[in-house]
Amino acid sequence: MPVTQDAVSLVSISPEIWPPRHRTYFGSLQIQSPAAGEPYAVTRIRGCTGVIDLGDKRTMEFAISAREIAEDLARELNGDSGEGSFHGVFVAAGDSPTDAELADARRRLREFQEKLVVAADLEWERSHNPMFITDLERRAARQLGLEKPWLYDPKPTIECPVCAERIKPGVAVCRACGAILDREKAARFGLAPRKRESVGHAKENQEDAAVK
Ligand SMILES: [Zn+2]
Repeated sequence: MPVTQDAVSLVSISPEIWPPRHRTYFGSLQIQSPAAGEPYAVTRIRGCTGVIDLGDKRTMEFAISAREIAEDLARELNGDSGEGSFHGVFVAAGDSPTDAELADARRRLREFQEKLVVAADLEWERSHNPMFITDLERRAARQLGLEKPWLYDPKPTIECPVCAERIKPGVAVCRACGAILDREKAARFGLAPRKRESVGHAKENQEDAAVK
């Protein structure tokens, strides 16, 4: 069966970068996201041929239209964040999205983001704990241009230069890999580099012994 030649446009109005999508019938597909200042991006989706394994080395091929594939992808990209979930992806009726389609998508995205912000406001009122505010809710508030007390994590983290684990700024020793990041501070609390080195050697010797 030849690959069908039909194609449709999957449109994204959100700056979100999506990980590649995978399907057995097309492999891997990168969904396009609008560049800065662009209102939308289009990913062209083509029809494919799927294969069903019937057992006994028999298979059956079937055509999947470009529209079916695009609708399936749009559902997947939009629908993982609860009721009314919408992340700005839709299938255009024509090759390019119309102004009406774009306006409709912008309205749906704004409504969903406003809902997320309301949920975050309620959570903040209840707990005053930024840990309970999701990345999705923060992103929604930023995209709506809102200032919220829960937008900022009061305890930002830095990257350990040795192991790249997220750690609190100003710590003397990385909790993940044990690297001494502030020699003076470490020494003040009795965590001198000399001591750690000797511990390291002892461990190495032990491991050597274990191998022998
Ligand atoms: Zn580390």
